Amino acid sequence: MQQDIYVIGLDLGGTNSVFGIVDARGEIKATTAIKTGGYSRVEDYVKASVEALQPIIEQVGGMERIKAMGIGAPNGNYYKGTIEMAPNLPWAHDSVVPLADLFSDALGIPVALTNDANAAAIGEMTYGVARGMKDFIVITLGTGVGSGIVTGGHLLYGSDGFAGELGHVTMVRGEEGRLCGCGRKGCLECYCSATGVARTARELLAKSDRPSLLREMNPEDITSLDVSIAAGKGDALAREIYDFTGKMLGEACADFAAFSSPEAFIFFGGMTRAGDLIMKPIKEAYDRHVLPIFRGKAQFLISGLDGASAAVLGASAVGWDVVASIEKRD
Ligand SMILES: [Zn+2]
Repeated sequence: MQQDIYVIGLDLGGTNSVFGIVDARGEIKATTAIKTGGYSRVEDYVKASVEALQPIIEQVGGMERIKAMGIGAPNGNYYKGTIEMAPNLPWAHDSVVPLADLFSDALGIPVALTNDANAAAIGEMTYGVARGMKDFIVITLGTGVGSGIVTGGHLLYGSDGFAGELGHVTMVRGEEGRLCGCGRKGCLECYCSATGVARTARELLAKSDRPSLLREMNPEDITSLDVSIAAGKGDALAREIYDFTGKMLGEACADFAAFSSPEAFIFFGGMTRAGDLIMKPIKEAYDRHVLPIFRGKAQFLISGLDGASAAVLGASAVGWDVVASIEKRD
């Protein structure tokens, strides 16, 4: 009987690093996690990761069953296996860190790394709602706004490995554009990320005296989750925040359609839990703004992958790609 083989998937986030051991069917067999930020040197981060992995590797029958590792990380460069100038990572905020090589040396297996939104796109294509699709765009709505663009069945990496930064297209030009973490003004991310939504809430609350459940809170403490809860209770001002956010996203998607004519836009992340509250304004704004030849063609979908495991599955799919390319070579 052939023994099962596995890959390790690592969802490397600003706060937590979640590892999963995944089989070829996309089943997560074991997981573990460490804090991402608890280390000032990348070598210490890798050492702590390998220590945390040991027991779960034993659980599936030892290292000889593990064929590769895939990593989804902010500012990940697929071509070089590096994380470059990631503002939220203490051990990579001002440098280029060869994370794939470091893990490969420590574990003795091939390791591939990509941007976290690209990993989400590969995860959707392998296990999610994009199975069978060749042209689609995944948009991740979290602390930031990320994107993974698939055209003709291939992830778009561009000349340097960084293609697909749709969160940083300029939606509001000029001085009134909100200042973005990238140093520029008016990026999509400043309006449609979780922090952008909270900022919209504060702006709308300050602009009028309209009643809202959100007024019961200290404005500085409002999060996108509070907006979602208030909107769920029918709060008109909270719903207006979703209308504003969805309109911005829909207009952006209309422009993205002009670039790669996707058959679907797939939204991923906490904000999608608002369902139609966010999806309806996205679709309406898209239909109003898209070039007529594209109208009515693209589907607007919410990721079908379970939020907690989707990022790990996406990273593991990057690892399975490595396994497949080695098998093809041999
Ligand atoms: Zn930006």
